[in-house]
Amino acid sequence: MEVIGVVGAGQMGAGIAQVAAQAGLKVLLSDVSVDVATKAKAGIAKRLDKAVERGKLDVSARDAATGLIEPVGDLSAMRAADLIIEAVTEQETVKRSIFEDISKVLASRAILATNTSSISITRLAQASADPSRFIGMHFFNPVPLMPLLELIKGMATGAEAVEVAEAFGRRTGKTTILAADSPGFVVNRIFLPLLNEAFFAAGERLASIPDIDAGIKLGLGHPMGPLTLADMIGLETLLEILKIYQADFGDPKYRPAPILSKLVEAGWLGRKAGKGFYDYSGETPVPSF
Ligand code: NAD
Repeated sequence: MEVIGVVGAGQMGAGIAQVAAQAGLKVLLSDVSVDVATKAKAGIAKRLDKAVERGKLDVSARDAATGLIEPVGDLSAMRAADLIIEAVTEQETVKRSIFEDISKVLASRAILATNTSSISITRLAQASADPSRFIGMHFFNPVPLMPLLELIKGMATGAEAVEVAEAFGRRTGKTTILAADSPGFVVNRIFLPLLNEAFFAAGERLASIPDIDAGIKLGLGHPMGPLTLADMIGLETLLEILKIYQADFGDPKYRPAPILSKLVEAGWLGRKAGKGFYDYSGETPVPSF
């Protein structure tokens, strides 16, 4: 594997492009326009500059990595890629049309992958020319820091797609785990119920909001409490995901805690709204109810 393509140069796509370039792979980076991809490349260069300032990266490694990222304006450039990872907005129609377009130019040796966090890999694979050469590659945010790469086999995913995705993981220093295609795959399937249980606990006043966070952080060794983390992710996103699990599994154990729906109805969506489980208007966050 020498050349990879990354489609979608947002938070995740830029992170994937960065780790690939730092691993010495040539990266073709595309977005809605070459300008957006070029801006994303500038953002990556800035992050690498900061790493140089902090003494974590030397100048030659920074220059080599930035030199390997080529913003492209047209998906036809992806014909040079051995592996193409899609990381565009989480909308099935948008992703499907990208796979249809890429399939027209894809090299026969190439593998197509998606970084979706919630859409069925098996269904998305149907929009590609060869579902056996299609796989889920679920990265974690921020990509340069998080060591895990969750691989998801759709019904038709073949051995070569898994091998190529595993090779990409090894090359970029990520540990891979392999999951079957099911809502939430494996990590979020286990993690969302933990967050939801923390929401129930907060709604039932089982303990105060800071005590629930302190309990999980200090008692289980998590880097931050579940309510703080939920506010960072965005409460409306978590509500949507839980509703999807509830509908797809048909199992009431995934029903969203009532307090989560209430906070979303109030527009208290978390950090970005200035208020969620915590109120962020002062110097330090305080519980919002
Ligand atoms: P983002 O909004 O930061 O980036 C999405 C990018 O896709 C934007 O730059 C946008 O311009 C681009 N885009 C939209 N339509 C396009 C098109 N037709 N062609 C090319 N580019 C297009 O979003 P993100 O957080 O980077 O998420 C991207 C994907 O990664 C989603 O599928 C998401 O579910 C998944 N994901 C996100 C996280 C996370 O924590 N943010 C974690 C794992 C997986």
